[in-house]
Amino acid sequence: MGRQPLWRRVDFIPQITYFKPAGVPLSNLQEVRLSVEEAEAIRLKDLEGLEQEECAQRMNISRTTFSRVLGSARQKMADALLSGKAIKIGGGNFEMAVRRFRCVSGHEWDVPFQTMVTTPPEFCPKCNTPSIMPLQPPGLGWGRGGRGRRHRGRRNW
Ligand SMILES: [Zn+2]
Repeated sequence: MGRQPLWRRVDFIPQITYFKPAGVPLSNLQEVRLSVEEAEAIRLKDLEGLEQEECAQRMNISRTTFSRVLGSARQKMADALLSGKAIKIGGGNFEMAVRRFRCVSGHEWDVPFQTMVTTPPEFCPKCNTPSIMPLQPPGLGWGRGGRGRRHRGRRNW
């Protein structure tokens, strides 16, 4: 323990991850990139109406960090809305609240956030095979944003 966890906990991944203003030619279209944790910050604060303190706890980050993530998210949304830019949601340093894994033999099991960020699973708990992979959340063609971790490169089955 000791240092601030790098991964922000996210409960929800948007199904629609691209928004484009009507009537803007593709050649003129500029894009704003909203990370998954920025989308989560907006969801918790502005959609669910939670207090900042609670939002920060839900995402497993400090209140200061939450405030920064939320500020950045709102700034990007405002920029897209008022400057007519497209919004693309994806990437970032996040991990799902619960991640479902599947092994090559078809066993499936859930791994909670805390386990994912400290000791991600290496083997199937039922048959012990190392051929396991996280099931991707809907809406995204990939799981974690940011940096690749141990699971990457193991999807060759
Ligand atoms: Zn198995």
